[in-house]
Amino acid sequence: MKIAELHIYSHELPVKDGPYTMANAQVWSLNTTLVKLVTDTGLIGWGETCPVGPTYAESHAGGARAALAEMGPGLIGTEILPLPVHRQMDKLLNGHNYAKAAIDIAVHDALGKHLGISVATLLGGATTDKIPSYYATGVGEPVDIARLAAEKVAEGFPRLQIKVGGRPVDLDIETIRKVWEVVRGKGIRLAVDGNRGWTTRDALRVSRECPDIPFVMEQPCNTIEDIQMIRPQVGHAIYMDESGVNLNAAVTAAGTGLVDGFGMKITRIGGLQPMRAFRDLCEARNLPHTCDDSWGGDIIAAACTHIGATVRSDLLEGVWLAQPYIEGHYDTQKGIQINDGHISVPTGSGLGIQPDESNFGAPVESFA
Ligand SMILES: [Mg+2]
Repeated sequence: MKIAELHIYSHELPVKDGPYTMANAQVWSLNTTLVKLVTDTGLIGWGETCPVGPTYAESHAGGARAALAEMGPGLIGTEILPLPVHRQMDKLLNGHNYAKAAIDIAVHDALGKHLGISVATLLGGATTDKIPSYYATGVGEPVDIARLAAEKVAEGFPRLQIKVGGRPVDLDIETIRKVWEVVRGKGIRLAVDGNRGWTTRDALRVSRECPDIPFVMEQPCNTIEDIQMIRPQVGHAIYMDESGVNLNAAVTAAGTGLVDGFGMKITRIGGLQPMRAFRDLCEARNLPHTCDDSWGGDIIAAACTHIGATVRSDLLEGVWLAQPYIEGHYDTQKGIQINDGHISVPTGSGLGIQPDESNFGAPVESFA
């Protein structure tokens, strides 16, 4: 079974009650890129990639589509198996994992449908049919974030992530303390995500002034060198997110003991094929991690959920979805949803969702 056609779509996802604020970005609407892959046997596979604006990472929506257009013609005729497709993509374009991930996800969807198995089964097998999610608050006023945290705990989220950075660190410390007052004793796991926004000075101060609060410090500073610098002095566990730019960076971070876990995004690492290798690497080192993406609709949400379902349960920190921040679904029947802080793993073959193409309009590029 080979790739016969590729169609690329551009679609806007407005942020519900926007903007969503992080240390280095404020986003009102996200432009997502969808890939429809048609096989020479007539099967369809869907993929998606949606950078959360142009400043969160070294990726942007226009870049995803340019990279897909660069690879498109050279992918026609490629065997629909994850490894050959990745090797072909690497022959056609250096880097640009976040664009390659959209093709990778479409390949897994099509292959799962062909074999009559779910993507989770294709990735080694789901260990559960319901996985934990977590809620990320956005940067905001301490009292507002504490109120939101209390609401999300009441909704059933087992984990909260507080966004910090991009402002005086005193406000971040106050936010962490206020949130802890409302979630303490409720069995909630807490992460504090700097999104690269703290200086090493800020990170050291937060850890020193909050020694009693058991949060995980996620990507506090901008570079790997910053993390190396604070690592010996910080009392809190440190997770890598944005600096884990590919499998190689993750291998080095895990192998040198630089971090205690990861926030990992499928599109950043290049798709589900490298993500399963990352999962196995983390299992070998007993390192917890998330299975997320930066943003996106039902297709990316389904991909995150399928790989999340295959992670050893004590190592899965949760699957974050943009769904609570987005209106509507591509698939009104089987769209991926968070209920009581958890996500049901889609049933059926492939990704298990059937996007309504009329949402996306005409393709912006097609290759056959
Ligand atoms: Mg993060």
